[in-house]
Amino acid sequence: MVQGLNQEKWPRPWYRILYAPWRMKYIAGSERTSGCVFCEAPKHNDKEALIVYRGELSYVILNKYPYNSGHVMVVPYRHVPTLEDLRLPELAEMGLLVKASMRALRKAYNPHGFNIGVNVGEAAGAGIAGHVHIHILPRWRGDTNFTVIFSATKVLPEALQDTYEKLKKLVPEAVSEVAREEGIEWGTSS
Ligand SMILES: [Zn+2]
Repeated sequence: MVQGLNQEKWPRPWYRILYAPWRMKYIAGSERTSGCVFCEAPKHNDKEALIVYRGELSYVILNKYPYNSGHVMVVPYRHVPTLEDLRLPELAEMGLLVKASMRALRKAYNPHGFNIGVNVGEAAGAGIAGHVHIHILPRWRGDTNFTVIFSATKVLPEALQDTYEKLKKLVPEAVSEVAREEGIEWGTSS
């Protein structure tokens, strides 16, 4: 959880009122978001949901059907379909979590590169089009292309659990590091 951010840069009391996810859920009603995996995941414990970090406005979760090892996603708590619907504090936190996740993945897997992307809308290939999310996918020279990886996906629960254990430690560490570098006071993942 965020303990307190630079007031000039991050008008916390103001966004708290507007963006508290539990409040949004109350306003929107439960029907609209029921059955959405990204709304459901945070209701479960971290290990069960494969959540490696919970921020105040967004969280980091492993993809259960990874295109490649270490495939994670940064997801806002709010159920909105596109980046344009996100407010700047949400985008700012998600940016921090993207940066921290990349740092953690470099440490854990030493990838040669990354694919980072957002599919907006079913036409663009979004699997869960109602709830926007940022994919972070580590890549290695000589691994195969996106499409082939996708169609050849096989998930070994043990491997996924190993990834979880690694990143559950490394992502919160990286978030703290980045926050420290940016001069933001940031608490530990809850
Ligand atoms: Zn949702």
